[in-house]
Amino acid sequence: MQPAVRLVILGKQGAGKGTQCVRLATHYRVPHISTGDMFRAAQRSGSDLADRLAKFMREGELIPDALVIDVVSDRLRRPDAAAGFILDGFPRTAAQAEGMSELLAPDDLDLCLDLEVDTAVVLARLSKRRVCERCNATYSLEGPPVVDWTCDACGGRVVQRDDDTEAAIWRRLELYERETAPLVAWYLERDKLVVVDGDGSPDTVTKRLVRAIDARLGNRF
Ligand code: AMP
Repeated sequence: MQPAVRLVILGKQGAGKGTQCVRLATHYRVPHISTGDMFRAAQRSGSDLADRLAKFMREGELIPDALVIDVVSDRLRRPDAAAGFILDGFPRTAAQAEGMSELLAPDDLDLCLDLEVDTAVVLARLSKRRVCERCNATYSLEGPPVVDWTCDACGGRVVQRDDDTEAAIWRRLELYERETAPLVAWYLERDKLVVVDGDGSPDTVTKRLVRAIDARLGNRF
């Protein structure tokens, strides 16, 4: 059995992070931790947190760092994440990257994957994206579930995300360039970065990712 890995994945909205993380989580047997999925679940549960999150998320704004770091810190303390994880959608700002280093100290991440896709490609994907509101499985207008927008995996309703509107998509991409893209240099300086071309079929991209991860961490497997 492979030893667990601690990974984060960066990439624009629509780069395919969610789809690839589900596959990598299965391959490396670690939990897929998506902050976006966690916040959407909190919203659905109608908790106190839900009201605070709603406006940020609908408009594509970032949730304040302190709150995000608290949520991730709680999640990483759960036993299933003790030996490894793949983080999707976190960190998204320099403060979150610093917060994460503190959370993991004296350990560290193994790798940061940067899934690169042109903006024109992600814009086309996002407008066609549909997601299961129960399990977050991702579909598209070109690749719908087998039966009438009912999730193949869990039977949940497959819908368009509230923040996959044109205005929110542009805002999220703008924030990505301003706040998140600089983390690529941050991880490069720490010798943790692997850049992978995210254009191509999901299977092709998964193979590229696994090859890149194994090439960097291969001595541990
Ligand atoms: P995602 O599913 O990753 O696109 O996230 C959906 C929305 O959740 C984002 O547009 C933000 O409003 C919020 N969100 C998710 N992760 C973070 C994060 N690490 N920092 C701030 N806001 C976040």
